[in-house]
Amino acid sequence: MSGKIFQKVSALFPPYEGTLIEKAQLRLFYLMLGANVLKGTVYLADAVMAHQGEGSMRALRLIITSLLLIAILRRFPKIARWGIHYAVLATILHIYYRVFNRDIGADPIALQAIFMVVISAFYGLNKRWGAVYTVVAALSLILSHYISFRWTGLHPLPQGLNDVYIVINFLVILIAHVYFHGVLFNTIHEKDALNEELARVADEKTSFLSTMSHELRTPLNAVIGIAGLLTRNNQDPAQKEHLDILKFSAEGLVRLINDVLDVNKMESGKLELESVPFNLYQLLKSVSGSMVQGAEEKSIQFAADIDRKLEGRQFIGDPTRLSQIIYNLVGNAIKFTNFGAVTLRANLLRQLDDQYIIRFEIEDTGIGITKRQQEKIFDPYVQASETTTRNFGGTGLGLTIVKQLVLMFGSEIHINSKPGFGTTFYFDIVFKEHLTPMSDNTGKDPEEGQDLSKLRILLAEDHAMNIFFMRQLFKQWHIQADIVENGMEVINLLKEKNYDLLLLDLHMPVMDGWETVKNIREMNDPEKAEIYIIALTGSVSADIQERIVDAGMNDYLSKPFQMDDLKLKLLGRLAK
Ligand code: ADP
Repeated sequence: MSGKIFQKVSALFPPYEGTLIEKAQLRLFYLMLGANVLKGTVYLADAVMAHQGEGSMRALRLIITSLLLIAILRRFPKIARWGIHYAVLATILHIYYRVFNRDIGADPIALQAIFMVVISAFYGLNKRWGAVYTVVAALSLILSHYISFRWTGLHPLPQGLNDVYIVINFLVILIAHVYFHGVLFNTIHEKDALNEELARVADEKTSFLSTMSHELRTPLNAVIGIAGLLTRNNQDPAQKEHLDILKFSAEGLVRLINDVLDVNKMESGKLELESVPFNLYQLLKSVSGSMVQGAEEKSIQFAADIDRKLEGRQFIGDPTRLSQIIYNLVGNAIKFTNFGAVTLRANLLRQLDDQYIIRFEIEDTGIGITKRQQEKIFDPYVQASETTTRNFGGTGLGLTIVKQLVLMFGSEIHINSKPGFGTTFYFDIVFKEHLTPMSDNTGKDPEEGQDLSKLRILLAEDHAMNIFFMRQLFKQWHIQADIVENGMEVINLLKEKNYDLLLLDLHMPVMDGWETVKNIREMNDPEKAEIYIIALTGSVSADIQERIVDAGMNDYLSKPFQMDDLKLKLLGRLAK
C-alpha cells in the first residue's frame, strides 16, 4: 500500500538524470517543501478556526511559496542548490524570529529547526555550507540567551555551564556531520567514478574482443576453406584424415571465438533474437543429421525423434540461435556419453490457435551430473569437475549461452540427471506459426550444375591466404574474377570496367570497405554506382547487419563462411 502511494507520488516527478548525490539532494528539497505544505495546511486550518486573519495569510504564503518552488524545481531540477540555500536561510530567519520574539530560548520547535538546518545544509549543499549554516543557526540560542539575560536581569541557572553545554553539543553535531559527510560523499563519489571506469572497461573489452575476433577469423577462414578444398580434391586417405583434423581444430577455434563473443554480447545486453519464418522440422532434421557422425565416432547411438505434427510447418523465431542451443546440448550429450544412446526429441505439447508449445528434450545415458554440480554448470567458465577438462576438454561456456538463449526465447532450461545413468535437458518454447507460404531452401544443396562463369566479379581482399582460397574457389566454379587489395584499386578498376558483383572485405589498407562503398555510391555512371555489393567481414558486432545496410551495401557474409553460402549468394545474383 505505502509502496503504491510512493510510486504514485514519484510518478508526479519527471526522472532526473543527475548523479546519485544530486538525486538525493533533490529529494531532500522536495521533502522539505512537502513538509512545509503540510505544516502550512495545519497552520491554516488552525488560524481559520481561531478567526486569525494574519495567521491565515502567513499560512497561505507558506503553502503558495512551497508549491511554487516545487513547480519550479520540477521544471529546472538543476537549480535545487539555490532552493536549498533559500530554504535554509528562511529556516534560520524563522529560528531567530522564534527565539527572539518569544524570548524563551530553545523551545523544541526551534531546536528541531536547527537540526533541519544542519541536515539540509550538510546533505543538500556541502560540508563548507553545512558548517557555516550550523554555526549561524546555533548562534541564535547563545545570542538569545545573553540578550534575554540583559533584558530581564535574571540568572536562573549557573550560566557558564549552560552555555558550555550548548556549545559542546553543537560542536559534536558539527564535527560528526563533517566527519560522516566526508566519508559518505567520498564513498559515493568513488563509486560513481568506479562505475564510469567499469563501463569504460566493459566497452573496451567488447571492442577488443570484436577486433581480436576479426583478426582471428580472417586467417581461420583461409585455413578452413583451404582444408575443405584440399579434402574435396584429395584421394589419399591418410592425408584426408590429417586434413579433417586440421579442419576440425580450426572449426573448434571458431566455435570458441563465437562462444566468448556470445557471452560478451549477452553480458553487455547486445544480443538480440531474430524473428524470421523457418521450418522447424527440417531445421531439427538437419541439425541432427550433422550430429550423427560425432555419435558414430564414439560408437553410441543417436536418434532424433521429431513430432510429425510439426512437419511442413513454418514458425516465427530465430533458427540460428535455436540450432545453437540444440548443437550445444546434443554436442555435450555425445561428449559426456561413452556407452548407450543420445536422443533429441521435439514434441508438440499443446496448440492454441497459431501458438505451438513445443518441448525440446536432449537425453543421454552418459556420466550424469550430481545435484551440487547442477547448481554451478550454468555459470560462465564452470565445468562440473576438474577431471572434465582433463578428459573431455571444453571451456564451460556452452551451457551459460544455452541458458541465456533459452531465457531469451521466453523459457527456462531444466535438468534431470542421475550420476552414472545419464542426463536429460529440456525446455518448452512457444512458437507462433507463420501461415504465409514461403519458399523453402532449408537443407537443399545449392543447385549443382548452374553456370557461374557468366558472373563478372570483382573481389577486394588484402589477406594473402584468403586471396589464395578465393582464387581456388573461383577456379572451381570457372569464374574469371578480378582481384584487388584495397578500396582505391576498386574505384580505379570500376571506372574502367563493369561488374555484376563486388565482394568487398571491410578491413583493408589505403581505403577500407566503408569508405569504398561511399565513393562507389557517389559515382556518376548509375550502372557502376548501383553495383551489387556483398561485404565480407570478420566482425560479429550485434549491429553489423544494420551498419552494412546503412552504409549502402546489399548483403554480407561473415567470415569464416562456408563455400556453399557464397555459392548460394552468387547463384542468387545469377538469377537476377
Ligand atoms: P563445456 O562442455 O565446454 O565444458 P558447458 O557449459 O557446455 O561447457 O558444460 C559445463 C559442464 O557441465 C561440463 O563441463 C560438464 O561437466 C557438465 N555437463 C554438461 N552437459 C553434460 C551432460 N550431458 N552430461 C554430463 N555432464 C554434462
